[in-house]
Amino acid sequence: MSEPFSFQIQARSSQTSARAGIFSTPHGRVETPRFMPVGTLANVKTLTPAQLEAAGAQMVLSNTYHLHLQPGEKIVATAGGLHKFMAWKGPILTDSGGFQVFSLSEIRTINDEGVIFRSPHDGQMIHFTPERSIFIQNELGADVIMAFDECPPYPASREQVLAATERTYRWLERCITAHQRSDQALFGIVQGGVYPDLRQEAARALVKLNLPGYAIGGVSVGEPAELIEKIVKVTTPFLPEEKPRYLMGVGTYREMAQAIANGIDLFDCVIPTRLARHGAALVQGERWNLKNSQFREDFQPLDETCPCYTCQNFSRAYLGHLVRAKELLAYTLLSIHNVTELIRFTQRIREAILADRFSEEFGEWLKPESEELSAPNSGEI
Ligand SMILES: [Zn+2]
Repeated sequence: MSEPFSFQIQARSSQTSARAGIFSTPHGRVETPRFMPVGTLANVKTLTPAQLEAAGAQMVLSNTYHLHLQPGEKIVATAGGLHKFMAWKGPILTDSGGFQVFSLSEIRTINDEGVIFRSPHDGQMIHFTPERSIFIQNELGADVIMAFDECPPYPASREQVLAATERTYRWLERCITAHQRSDQALFGIVQGGVYPDLRQEAARALVKLNLPGYAIGGVSVGEPAELIEKIVKVTTPFLPEEKPRYLMGVGTYREMAQAIANGIDLFDCVIPTRLARHGAALVQGERWNLKNSQFREDFQPLDETCPCYTCQNFSRAYLGHLVRAKELLAYTLLSIHNVTELIRFTQRIREAILADRFSEEFGEWLKPESEELSAPNSGEI
């Protein structure tokens, strides 16, 4: 891997393909496996950088598609880049916009050149190409940038997925040529839908390009959860051991644990902050709705084992009150807890891998969901 990036594996699980490592970037180290909170518009919703840091965040995400639409990469670049603009000193990753273009936009045309879509803000036609995505990401200045990819929906026919996977490869070659900054690592994205042979073929082709890291994309697009584990399982053996691996858009307990068991290092998902905005807390693998009447006079913290500011200072009754009253503080306090909770989950897995106790300590999470009993008044995500 070219300076200033490196990935060092510290320990491997003897019973699974899990590994613990350190991914070094120009803005600091990321201990893996690790959950990365999502700051779509250059902020993790309702959290200050200091609160994010206290929650254990090391690397955060931002979205090229959203930042291009507002405020535009020129303003971010003029501000001195994303780190300065959002006052986050640690590592940042930007996605390429591919996923959002295909999932959020009204697409006018898609061909080998790129995608033309309508801006949801002002209705203008916007042209995204691999070169444009990389230009925008070079301007934004994140530590890790992602190749522009075509993300097929689920379900999609084998022919559709094959065409998208081949186009993603051709676009990746153009992304590599367009990429201008050696202080940014460009990761490739393995597509291939739910077709194992397409995933493997895509991984094989990408690896020949000797990129600093590899992502598995095109999951969490509506397919059944158990397919995510299968996709990861058939893909990671074709990715190099010594490079970081990132599973895009996944951030539930079980899916992360199972993906880690199959050799994934990095995750991102909007779930902790989105749930907070719906008045829900993630507590030791369960999802609690704080509006539920059972919490009205419950003066315990959300989780007495949690070190976060919310759990150290506030009760379930108080949080429930804030949620019912729609007080803005509710969203900050629940986001602090939920982000801490998912980062801590991956941190605890990391410690278990370092002690080679991953499958003993997290065995429950490695089973299919149907074997689990679900607790009353709670829902597992
Ligand atoms: Zn907490």
